[in-house]
Amino acid sequence: MKAIQMVDLKTQYQALKQEIDAAVIGVLESSAFINGKPVQDFAEALSAYIGVKHVIPCANGTDALQIALMALDLQPGDEVITPSFTFIATTEVVALLHLKPVFVEVQKDTFCMDTEALRKAITPRTKAIVPVHLYGQAANMEEIMKIAAEHNLPVIEDNAQAIGCDYRFSDGTVKKAGSIGHIGTTSFFPSKNLGAYGDAGAIFTNDDALAARLKMIANHGQSKRYYHDVVGCNSRMDTIQAAILNIKLRELDNYIQKRNRAADYYNKAFAGHPKITTPAVAAYSNHVYHQYTLVLEGVNRDGLNQYLAEKQIPSMIYYPVPGHKQKMFEASGLPQYDLAVTDWLTERVISLPMHTELDEAQLEYIVSSLLEYIKNN
Ligand SMILES: *Cc1c(COP(=O)(O)O)cnc(C)c1O
Repeated sequence: MKAIQMVDLKTQYQALKQEIDAAVIGVLESSAFINGKPVQDFAEALSAYIGVKHVIPCANGTDALQIALMALDLQPGDEVITPSFTFIATTEVVALLHLKPVFVEVQKDTFCMDTEALRKAITPRTKAIVPVHLYGQAANMEEIMKIAAEHNLPVIEDNAQAIGCDYRFSDGTVKKAGSIGHIGTTSFFPSKNLGAYGDAGAIFTNDDALAARLKMIANHGQSKRYYHDVVGCNSRMDTIQAAILNIKLRELDNYIQKRNRAADYYNKAFAGHPKITTPAVAAYSNHVYHQYTLVLEGVNRDGLNQYLAEKQIPSMIYYPVPGHKQKMFEASGLPQYDLAVTDWLTERVISLPMHTELDEAQLEYIVSSLLEYIKNN
């Protein structure tokens, strides 16, 4: 059996090696390392795929979030509502811009923003909502957009983990995650579902004025070279990364299928187990399984993590410390949060190897090892 990895980027590369190598060499030969043609080509291809009018390429997914927030013209101390149960980037940029993160609860079954909690968290100082499509499933965007409209608030979708995910509205309309909010952001970090071979990210919007602003902010606040209208930053996607992403975008649906096949295997193997809850998929979203995350009850989760490691099976705790308990926020004096579901999940989740290259022998070995530990402990 091939060694099991959390993410197997090398095997995935080998399947596209010829094409990717040629594309990279093409960039080297053109020497248009910044803003070469592949960057625009990729933005156009991605905008067609996502079904969004504007795609603004940038340096990474964290920058994408930062630029999105900068485009909203917020004032220091303005409140931005976001889940606590997410990767830190989502809230880090809020704090970096001297805005105030307001953490809300997630739903126990989907791990995404609890819309009732969102409603309760809105105050006159709330100026933006940032839902996260955690692990590859969309948050309840229809309800979130409804609440946002009632309060006239912009929504930034953090779509770093759910590129390609389909959201279904109650009238049957289907849209890609990331194209529903006022702005969507994503990351092409190598291990993401559409991964570059280095850092890269993108911002989505259907709003022409916002698109112009986002573009300007990502490029030193200039609309015309050396004329700087607003304080911006320097956040570009390398041409080499765009050339690679152009090729990999064509494989994305195939990658999503492969992830779903692995998830189906896990789901069947763990179905009905009294101590294991497999990922729930909401009626309004499909799942692109950036992560395959179980919730364990009555199991020594960290013991299992250790046991799997001894059997050469990587597993991860995403995320061991929720945002509202991170030391980085101690100095700014966060209020006392009572996020019982978030804390409960933090102690019970475990993510198993999930990628496009998992074969049946590996899945069989992962499942049997995990079940064996739970039976004997
Ligand atoms: C990966 C990730 C980001 C940040 O993306 P980078 O490209 O690593 O900066 C932001 N939010 C979420 C939810 C992520 O998973």
